[in-house]
Amino acid sequence: MLDSYKHKGLRNKLVEELINKGIKDLSVLDAIANVPRHLFMDSGFIDHAYQDKAFPIGSGQTISQPFTVAFQTELLNVKKGDKILEIGTGSGYQAAVLCEIGAKVFTIERIKELYRKTSVFLPSINYRPKKMIYGDGNIGYVEESPYDGIIVTAGASEIPEKLFTQLKIGGRLVVPIGSEVQKMVLYLKKAENEYEIKDFGDFQFVPLLKNKI
Ligand code: SAH
Repeated sequence: MLDSYKHKGLRNKLVEELINKGIKDLSVLDAIANVPRHLFMDSGFIDHAYQDKAFPIGSGQTISQPFTVAFQTELLNVKKGDKILEIGTGSGYQAAVLCEIGAKVFTIERIKELYRKTSVFLPSINYRPKKMIYGDGNIGYVEESPYDGIIVTAGASEIPEKLFTQLKIGGRLVVPIGSEVQKMVLYLKKAENEYEIKDFGDFQFVPLLKNKI
């Protein structure tokens, strides 16, 4: 499956839709315009790739809705060269968007099957996170900390405390918090143990679970 002009046209339409829904960051919109989302989905869903919807990716997980990816990435305020930790690699789409912006991406997945699949797939389409990790994102990845930004792409029923210490001063943690429905929360680290907290309303994610499988 290749990337065609038809797919590029559909992506441009999706970008217009995201602008209408309030996404402003040009680097985020450019990334969405460039990443071939149809390649991240099982072939049965390819026709849906450029609709603003979440879709199954196997192992009971989903590729996030483009609006959610754009919204979280905008909140992260990513600059080229920033070191970003993603919790929940899944299909690798969010990681590809971060790579496209020029971030140094570290990404953790707890399901071995998805970790294996995405570790092979992303480099095959020329997206190269610095490291893909098979592990439990609740504990972060201290080996490469501190990070400019940490993005959690699964719903956390409680605040993943360990991630705070892995953030630089001035860094940002974007995390959906809640059980059934999640509030999108942005933590801006002002100083050690000092955060500005902002709430950005309701979203729905698959749950952030503990331990690897
Ligand atoms: N960022 C992904 C979204 C995938 S859905 C994408 O763009 O496709 C959320 C992902 O988080 C799932 O793949 C799920 O297996 C993973 N996940 C859930 N709990 C986790 C944990 N504790 N550590 C790491 N990954 C986790």
